[in-house]
Amino acid sequence: MEEREAVSRNFIEQIIDSDLAEGKYETICTRFPPEPNGYLHIGHAKSILLNYGLAKKYGGKFNLRFDDTNPTKEKTEFVDSILADVKWLGADFEDRLYFASNYFDQMYEAAVKLIKKGKAFVCDLSAEEFREYRGTLTEPGKESPYRNRSIEENLEFFENMKNGMYEDGAKVLRAKIDMASPNINMRDPVIYRVAHMTHHNTGDKWCIYPLYDFAHPIEDAIEGVTHSICTLEFEDHRPLYDWVVREVGYEHPPKQIEFAKLYLTNVVTGKRYIKKLVEQGIVDGWDDPRLVTIAALKRRGFTPESIQMFVDMCGISKSQSSVDYAMLEYCIREDLKLKRPRMMAVLDPVKLVIDNYPEGQIEYLDVEMNLENPELGMRKVPFGRELYIDREDFMEDPPKKYFRLFPGNEVRLMGAYFVKCVGLEKDDSGKVTVIHCTYDPETKCGSGFTARKVKGTIHWVAAATAIRATVRLYENIIDESKGVYNEDGSLNLNPNSLTVLENCLLEPAFADAKPYESFQFVRQGYFCVDAKDSKKDALVFNRIVALKSSFKMPKNL
Ligand code: ATP
Ligand code: MG
Repeated sequence: MEEREAVSRNFIEQIIDSDLAEGKYETICTRFPPEPNGYLHIGHAKSILLNYGLAKKYGGKFNLRFDDTNPTKEKTEFVDSILADVKWLGADFEDRLYFASNYFDQMYEAAVKLIKKGKAFVCDLSAEEFREYRGTLTEPGKESPYRNRSIEENLEFFENMKNGMYEDGAKVLRAKIDMASPNINMRDPVIYRVAHMTHHNTGDKWCIYPLYDFAHPIEDAIEGVTHSICTLEFEDHRPLYDWVVREVGYEHPPKQIEFAKLYLTNVVTGKRYIKKLVEQGIVDGWDDPRLVTIAALKRRGFTPESIQMFVDMCGISKSQSSVDYAMLEYCIREDLKLKRPRMMAVLDPVKLVIDNYPEGQIEYLDVEMNLENPELGMRKVPFGRELYIDREDFMEDPPKKYFRLFPGNEVRLMGAYFVKCVGLEKDDSGKVTVIHCTYDPETKCGSGFTARKVKGTIHWVAAATAIRATVRLYENIIDESKGVYNEDGSLNLNPNSLTVLENCLLEPAFADAKPYESFQFVRQGYFCVDAKDSKKDALVFNRIVALKSSFKMPKNL
């Protein structure tokens, strides 16, 4: 058993196991380090749950740290949304909430330390010269003429940078490493720049800001992070990460480990793209249910449990690939299947009149909340002479193998009686307006009636007690089969990503539905009360996912 467990461990767990076995660290500490420049998305959810999950599994610690060292794009709106999303996912960071900007003093000290060791210098090259000197992937760079400034001069100029004596871009502080390195990240990278900007946390205290590659390892080291898990694009930055923690002299330096980013088909992952859709007003904010931000997934009706299941199924790997969006849909169906009530809603109503049912009479039928889970109990469903059914459940002239309602055919009304179509009314355009039926009182559901069988069962609501609601149907925002991008490079958006149905009719048990509450609309899918637009007397539902899918679980899962 133990052996099997060891085999099934992912590569990050294997690294941690051996680090602990070798006594490199006594216990582990992971972190999630978002930059507050947008809302978190499903990819971030993977990173959050991975880091939090490891800390929990190894009895270690998990930090939430805002990587807020770049004041240009950061906003407190994003800090608040990120806090809400991480909590909603269930990644409990307790009181371990940190802001990288609170370490600016320590970062400044670390830079001074490097200067004193002769490992950093102030450089006056212009941005253009800087590019020229940097070299290319195939050619080494050239050393800056300012590289051999004295330590005293560097200390003085760096202090002047801090004191606001230079314009933005006039001078930078660079690490002194190796202009001939095959790894461009190691060619005397910039570690501090002048930027006269107000920071959301530190205000106007600083006019110099550290760059990511310098700041991030220091943040990790200060917090005692042991395993700094990031995505593959930082693999080439790892030598610099290691250089910083070594040269600044941390006793128990953290270790960077990279894994592949999560990409999903048919949706937009990537903050930059999502931001564009939001700013251009193409979607209704960062939480538009067609997006895969965490806020949008929550609004659409996904649960933290379904996202955890999805992340677990995706696994952790070093090779880049896209996961089928249908797998996320599979997870939410699985999660809601037994948990949530299954009730009746008619999305495209057409009237059905039972000619032989007493006028004005309403009877209350006892129906299971969820046929597969008796624990959810029963509900009363009113039944009467006038009902509504979904238009697609009736055909005047049906093809073969159509088992729903058509003239002369008998079907079961779910939880109620058998009805037989005996006639219909149409308007001038030929559209069916009323379907006439007769019912057989003997066939009441649960009566033990077995004399006849019917092939079709359809859902319905009683006209007298129905609740009107708006229902939004979604398709993926991108249909990859038609190409992700247009010729001009813009996203090839699916024009049918949103359909709004204004006249849906629901059984009265829905009356108390609360924001974020979800239900199965029987035979149709899972739907969730929209937290932004739904009102007590004007319910709005978002379709989370249809009931059926052609998705097949990959064999290796
Ligand atoms: P984006 O690429 O969407 O702009 P980002 O990487 O700029 O996101 P950050 O706030 O810098 O966003 O990322 C915080 C953490 O989330 C980082 O550790 C990053 O590696 C991780 N992360 C970001 N995108 C993904 C993804 N698609 N899959 C897994 N982890 C991700
Ligand atoms: Mg980033």
